[in-house]
Amino acid sequence: VSSKRYLITPGPTPIPPEVAAAAAAPMQHHRSPEFRALLIETLGRLQQVFATENDIVLFTGSGTAAMESAVANMLSPGDRVVVATAGNFGDRWVKLIRSYGLEPVVVEQPWGERLDPARIGAAASEEGTKAVFVTHSETSTGVVHDVEAIAAAVAPSGAVLVVDAVSSLGGVELATDAWGVDVVVSGSQKALMSPPGLAFASVSEKAWKLAERSQLPRYYLDWRRAADSQVKGDTAFTPAVSIVLALRTALDLILTQGLANVWEHNRRLARATRAGVKGLGLDLYSPDDDSSAMVTALLMPEGVDGQECYTVLRDRHGIVLAGGHGPLRGRIMRIGHMGYMNEFDIVTALAGLEMALAQLGHTPPVPGGGVAAATALFAAEPVPVDG
Ligand SMILES: *Cc1c(COP(=O)(O)O)cnc(C)c1O
Repeated sequence: VSSKRYLITPGPTPIPPEVAAAAAAPMQHHRSPEFRALLIETLGRLQQVFATENDIVLFTGSGTAAMESAVANMLSPGDRVVVATAGNFGDRWVKLIRSYGLEPVVVEQPWGERLDPARIGAAASEEGTKAVFVTHSETSTGVVHDVEAIAAAVAPSGAVLVVDAVSSLGGVELATDAWGVDVVVSGSQKALMSPPGLAFASVSEKAWKLAERSQLPRYYLDWRRAADSQVKGDTAFTPAVSIVLALRTALDLILTQGLANVWEHNRRLARATRAGVKGLGLDLYSPDDDSSAMVTALLMPEGVDGQECYTVLRDRHGIVLAGGHGPLRGRIMRIGHMGYMNEFDIVTALAGLEMALAQLGHTPPVPGGGVAAATALFAAEPVPVDG
């Protein structure tokens, strides 16, 4: 059995060799001129990727740490807050807010649907709403919600809009300032093609005002403490130095390629993935359009258990895709196409799926039909940027 692994998931994602090499550099002290310069440079590049002039606070932790920081820094007991959810990560906001003793108003839609901006705007417009929490790329379903429209719908209420962009930032457009998003939270390990371990939140003026009055407890995740250190190029606590090194390199690669080119690259990989899924005779679960650029979710054929398919792919072929969360467990498989991915990752995923399905008793109608459809699309849509 080969030990070669193919990580084709929606996070953590593969990292480019330059990024891995940067993370392997000799350790440096975080209270040093070198690290200060590195941190300031990295935060500046993050602002470019976030498309914001707001402060970005950085924490060592996974993406959820940044989500938690938004709750702990802005809310107070008894606040009226709205969460819109149609999937696992939207539900995470609900659980997180409840764990701080608040009861959010939940605008719920079935998993797999697109959030309805009008419903969110209506919930936000009710007297006293402090904040609205939504997800950008709902990684559990493959839906990328229309944050621009949601921000426009929420704006008249004056509530602070918080967006979970952990799996979308850098991968699809997110115009934080232009769209009027107050807080964007993200992490290092998805479209930013860096190792897991760093979390960030961009904080608008309006969000800082809430933070000044918030009465929920926080210490490690305190925005004020983080921001006060960062203006001096410091961090309040020991940061994951190696991951900051990796992230700076990854952000360089992304900005050199150009954000718009990266977004188009992802859309193209997504188009080929959707064509390939259909070529295998399977149905899509995620939307069949360009909005779904980060994750493609496909329905398992009748009689095939998605978790079994996942295990066969991983253990026999070394291919790691993602299964389904919650009610979708066993019913779908997810192919990630964010970060350091190219045509051959998609081809590998499709070829592996065909082989695994055959082993589970489901032979696709046309041999090689998934790969053929994907490669045909790549041939029809050649790009100079990446191979
Ligand atoms: C991955 C992810 C998170 C955060 O997960 P962590 O494991 O805490 O990094 C949050 N939201 C979305 C949409 C995600 O895809």
